[in-house]
Amino acid sequence: NRVDNPYAGAKVYVNPDWSAKAAAEPGGSRVSNQPTGIWLDRIAAITGTSTGRGLRAHLDTALTQKGSGEMVVQLVVYDLPGRDCSALASNGELGPTEIDKYKTQFIDPIAAILADPKYASLRIVTAVEIDSLPNLVTNTGSRPTAVPACDVMKANGNYVKGVGYALNKLGDIPNVYNYVDAGHHGWLGWDDNFVPTAQILHTAATAEGATVDDVHGFITNTANYSALKETNFSVSETIAGKSVRESKWVDWNRYTDEQSYAQALRNQLVTTGFRSNIGMLIDTSRNGWGGTARPAGPGPQTSVDAYVDGGRFDRRIHVGNWCNQTGAGLGERPQTAPASGIDAYVWMKPPGESDGASSAIPNDEGKGFDRMCDPTYTGNPRNNNNLSGALPNSPLSGHWFSAQFQQLMQNAYPPL
Ligand code: BGC
Repeated sequence: NRVDNPYAGAKVYVNPDWSAKAAAEPGGSRVSNQPTGIWLDRIAAITGTSTGRGLRAHLDTALTQKGSGEMVVQLVVYDLPGRDCSALASNGELGPTEIDKYKTQFIDPIAAILADPKYASLRIVTAVEIDSLPNLVTNTGSRPTAVPACDVMKANGNYVKGVGYALNKLGDIPNVYNYVDAGHHGWLGWDDNFVPTAQILHTAATAEGATVDDVHGFITNTANYSALKETNFSVSETIAGKSVRESKWVDWNRYTDEQSYAQALRNQLVTTGFRSNIGMLIDTSRNGWGGTARPAGPGPQTSVDAYVDGGRFDRRIHVGNWCNQTGAGLGERPQTAPASGIDAYVWMKPPGESDGASSAIPNDEGKGFDRMCDPTYTGNPRNNNNLSGALPNSPLSGHWFSAQFQQLMQNAYPPL
C-alpha cells in the first residue's frame, strides 16, 4: 500500500555529509539544509567510503530526522555493467559483461538493507540507473552519435536486464518507490527518440521478472542543466517566417524545457503501457540559470535565432553539453506536487559535486577522463561539435567542486 505521491506530507532526508560541505562554503548555509540524493554509485558506497557514510548509516540518520512524521529518503541506484557508455567521466567499476556481479554484489545487498523491518516506516525513493537506457536509443547503430560501447550494451542486453532486475528486487519492498531515469528534453525530445525511449523503458520494466507495477514513476534532468520552463519562446510560434523549431537552439525538438517534456513523456509512457497514476520527478538542482545573464524578456523578432537566443534562460553553448556547465545556477528548491503529473522537484544531483574532471586524474573509482569536461574541447557529434562549456579545474565526478558551488549559488533562480 504505497501512497500515490511519496513526497506528499513528508519531509525529505538531508544528507549530513553533503550538508557539511555546503555549509562550509561562504554563504552555503542558505542551502545546506536542502535534501539531496544519496548516490549508490559503487559497491563500496553501500557500506560507506571516505566521502560518505554507508546506506544503513544514512537510513539510521533518516529515522532520527523523521521523528513522528513521514520521511522520504532519495537514493540513486547507479552501477550498471558498462555504465554511462557514451561518456567516460562516470564509467563505472563494472565491465560490460559483469551483470551477475551487479545483481549479487550491488542490487541484492541494497535490497537486503532496504527490506530490514527497521526501515519500514521510511518512504524510499529510488532513481534507477541514470543515463543508461536512453543511450541505447540515441547512441547506437547507424546514428552519427553512435558510440561503440553503447552498441555493446545494446547487443548484450545488460542494461535492460540490470534495470529489470533492480526494479523487480527493489519493487518487492513495500516502502520502496522506484523512479526510472528518463533523460531530459534536450536529449530525448526529438520525434526520433521520444517514443523509442518510452518503449525501451517498458522493455526494461518488464524484463527479469519486473512488471509495470514495480515502477512508481520516472525522473528527468538528473544531473543535467535543462531549464525547467522557457517562458520567452514556444514551439508554436513563427518568427520572421520561421517556426521556433527551426532555430539553431531548438533544432526541431518538440520540447523546449523540462516541465513540458516531463508532462508529455508521462502521457506517452502511459500510452506505452505504464500505469496511469505514475508520477514524474524533475531534478532542479542546477537548472536555475539566474544571475546577470538571465534574459529579462523575449529576444528581438529580427530572426528566429535572435529571438530564441535572446530569450532563452538556458545559456549553454549547446543543449548536448553536460559537464560542469559555465553560468548555471541552483534551480527551484525541492518541493512537492508543483505541477500536474509532477510528484516533486528534487535536488537529486548534490550541487557542488563535479560531473567530471577537466583533465585526467588517476583514481580507483572507475572514473575516466571525458573531454566534455575540458573547457578547451571542441566537441563531438553528440554536442554538434561545439565547445564543451565546462568550468576549468574540476575534480573527479562526485568530488567537491567549490568554484562550481559558488557559481551555482550566485546564479540561483529563484535567487537565494
Ligand atoms: C558520479 C558519482 C557521484 C554523482 C553525484 C556522478 O557523476 O559518477 O560518483 O556520486 O555524480 O555527485
